[in-house]
Amino acid sequence: MSDAHIVLNIENMERTYGDGDHALTVLKDANLRIHSGEMVALVAPSGTGKSTLLHSAGLLERPDAGEVYITGLPTRIMKDRDRTLLRRSSVGFVYQFHHLLPEFSAAENLMVPQMVAGISKNIARERAIELLSYMRIDHRADHRPSELSGGEQQRVAIARAVANAPSLLLADEPTGNLDPETSDHVFGMLYELVRKSGLAALIATHNHELAKKMDRAVTLEGGKIIDLKL
Ligand code: ADP
Ligand code: MG
Repeated sequence: MSDAHIVLNIENMERTYGDGDHALTVLKDANLRIHSGEMVALVAPSGTGKSTLLHSAGLLERPDAGEVYITGLPTRIMKDRDRTLLRRSSVGFVYQFHHLLPEFSAAENLMVPQMVAGISKNIARERAIELLSYMRIDHRADHRPSELSGGEQQRVAIARAVANAPSLLLADEPTGNLDPETSDHVFGMLYELVRKSGLAALIATHNHELAKKMDRAVTLEGGKIIDLKL
């Protein structure tokens, strides 16, 4: 595939927390390329740096060295404001815990990021309902997160992550808090959504069965990203 289709390109990334005697280098010489339409599983034990990698790839953290290209754009020395704009337009993030705004309804949780991006309220509502119905949760559109089950909350969170039609979807153990049956159900919908939209996706999971359904899997070893055979 041509370079033009590389949505996420991580080159020689390094991330160290703390300094001096307390310095902990979590990522070192980390490299990863994900093309549009490609779904990559990130399978690695707790504490090896999955969240650090996802946060750096999602421009929520800045690496100490190396480069993160999002749709070809180098981001490490970008100003905070430019990183924020690029993140909002190009990256969707799903956390392990839903992180929905508690005082807003499910639909409003999808409308807020769109309206921040300049979309009118009516259009944002229309797209919110469309995405919620895609995740088969539109009948709960006007309910607050606290009125939804864990699986329903995650379906709303996934719909929210793609509200602004990002190129890249990053998910940090998105079904990790759910019981196995709900997890399979929610993951199935996430999978369909990614496949239909042609998104590039990097999804951290401990579930090997889920990971096997993706195009390939990677793991973290000594701060490097290496291919994983499942
Ligand atoms: P994972 O998601 O694979 O469990 P993390 O990326 O959360 O791993 O963490 C990797 C390592 O970095 C762990 O040892 C963790 O304690 C440490 N770490 C994560 N975030 C910070 C931080 N903000 N400050 C210091 N250490 C951190
Ligand atoms: Mg983590």
